[in-house]
Amino acid sequence: MNYKNQIRKWNGWGKNGFHLYDQNIIRDLKSFLSNQIGEVNFKIKEITKEELLKKVSVSSIKINDPILKNIFFLEKEIRLDYSFGQSFPDWISFKTGWNLEITDAVAFPSNIEELKLLYDYCKKNQYKILIYGGGTSVVGHIRPENHPVITISMEKLNKVLEVNKENSFAIIQAGANGPEIENQLQKYGYRLGHYPQSFELSTLGGWIATRSSGQQSLYYGKIEDIFLGGKVLTDKGEWEIIPNPASSAGPDLKYWILGSEGRTSILYEAIVKIRKLPETEEFYGVFFKDVFSAINFIKQAIQLKTSLSMIRLSFPEETLINLEMAKATGYKNIIENLIKYLSFRGYKNQFCMMILGFTGTKKEVHTSKKIIIDLIKDFNGLIKPYFISKKLGKSWEKNRFYSPYLRNTLWELGYGVDTLETCLPWNKIIEAKNKIEFAIKEAAKKHNEEIIVYTHLSHIYLNGSSLYTTYLFRLKESPEELFQFWKDMKQAASKVITELKGTISHQHGVGKDHKTYLVFEKGQIGMEWIKNYIKNADPHQLLNNNNLIDIDHS
Ligand SMILES: Cc1cc2nc3c(=O)[nH]c(=O)nc-3n(C[C@H](O)[C@H](O)[C@H](O)COP(=O)(O)OP(=O)(O)OC[C@H]3O[C@@H](n4cnc5c(N)ncnc54)[C@H](O)[C@@H]3O)c2cc1C
Repeated sequence: MNYKNQIRKWNGWGKNGFHLYDQNIIRDLKSFLSNQIGEVNFKIKEITKEELLKKVSVSSIKINDPILKNIFFLEKEIRLDYSFGQSFPDWISFKTGWNLEITDAVAFPSNIEELKLLYDYCKKNQYKILIYGGGTSVVGHIRPENHPVITISMEKLNKVLEVNKENSFAIIQAGANGPEIENQLQKYGYRLGHYPQSFELSTLGGWIATRSSGQQSLYYGKIEDIFLGGKVLTDKGEWEIIPNPASSAGPDLKYWILGSEGRTSILYEAIVKIRKLPETEEFYGVFFKDVFSAINFIKQAIQLKTSLSMIRLSFPEETLINLEMAKATGYKNIIENLIKYLSFRGYKNQFCMMILGFTGTKKEVHTSKKIIIDLIKDFNGLIKPYFISKKLGKSWEKNRFYSPYLRNTLWELGYGVDTLETCLPWNKIIEAKNKIEFAIKEAAKKHNEEIIVYTHLSHIYLNGSSLYTTYLFRLKESPEELFQFWKDMKQAASKVITELKGTISHQHGVGKDHKTYLVFEKGQIGMEWIKNYIKNADPHQLLNNNNLIDIDHS
């Protein structure tokens, strides 16, 4: 049996055999980290796949149906390969064997008939269903907590079924991942334009179920702006959400699928907006003297109709850490010269870097660049020398999906990394950034740890922005201690976010890790509505994967 996760690192990020750095770079990175937050002079006890497999019990699932026998797999290794996502608790689990939750079977349907058979079989036998897209969730969606459970991998449903040029939409099977979608659409001269950093592995169904956001959301929109409708399998049968360019016919039901996190239905076909491949796409690195002028620039830029497809602003700490990391990872001379040049031009302590993306026809991009460059100058930004700016943009573009591989290297060196994100109106952005970072640092101090923490803005709206914080810390010797350490940092940040009335997630969803905070955003009445919707959509609680909300089954 061939399945996709065979080529994937079972206990880390990404594809097998891909190494971001050579040994010299890793040595420099290690010394940088130990100078910043301390040396790691212990080794957390890791578990091998063989040892882990010994801990997996024989599946309790029984299959007699001859068709289903070809779709279902009970082998321990396959079950292990589909039991983890990418949240920090998932990492502790697959690295150490702590708090193991292994699915009881994995099924790989190839068409809707097989999907229906599976659904009915699970219903008849009271097996839970956990839908697996690309398994890249960072908030615990994929952890199989309720048993017996069958994980349905959507990976074989990965085709573009129709490209409708006249109406600019495509019908795509929900299990298609980023490269599969783009490769198929590009043959027709089109693209979806949804590029989350997890693009290599995450899927259309996963994006819709978690309300994901791609790096060029400024141009293409969040997935909710791209998703028009489609077909889902529900307890009561198939349901088609008819796509219309717009409608005022009561509530928009596609919003019952967006963000449903695998709790209400199985999305198997999505109708999505597509755009012609742009004639040109260019990225630039720009510097501002401080974050206030950078944000004021953004607020002006966002009011204009230009072909800007991305604005990504690193706060000063992230700018410095990115430059330091680049120094420690093979670009020492270039970065040192850049810092000297910036200092010469008056960009000293508080400067910050922004990546700008332009997408469109050559004419549009040319005109937009002129407008935006003038605006950059109005805010004392620096886009010259142009070749450096272009080089920085190119380097970002080249590495846009590779930086997550750093997680593997960091763990090997004894460090962990996690991220969290929110979205707030402009007047709260600076306050939230400072308070979130402070809260995480203070929580770490209680564990006698120094950490590195930094933030950027990457999804920009007229009214505000997403805020994305990364924190890097030393691992602990025991998994329990490490989990508690991570949890305290995460809780401290989440408390700040809810107190400021930010969303508990701009793009990763709720999963299991954010569940307790959802009520602050939706209110008690909102939570009741969500609960009732889930109960109604899934009366037998087959899709009860513990995501989003706790439901009393009585
Ligand atoms: C390194 C890294 C970078 C990331 N970068 C980004 C980013 O830039 N932007 C962003 O938005 N997110 C990002 N994420 C988070 C993650 O990629 C997204 O949440 C993504 O949308 C998950 O898609 P998936 O296919 O992997 O879904 P999975 O993780 O497999 O599943 C997520 C949830 O969706 C449900 N689901 C999946 N498919 C279906 C379906 N067909 N029908 C019904 N329910 C379904 C599952 O049951 C589960 O509850 C990143 C994650 C990692 C690890």
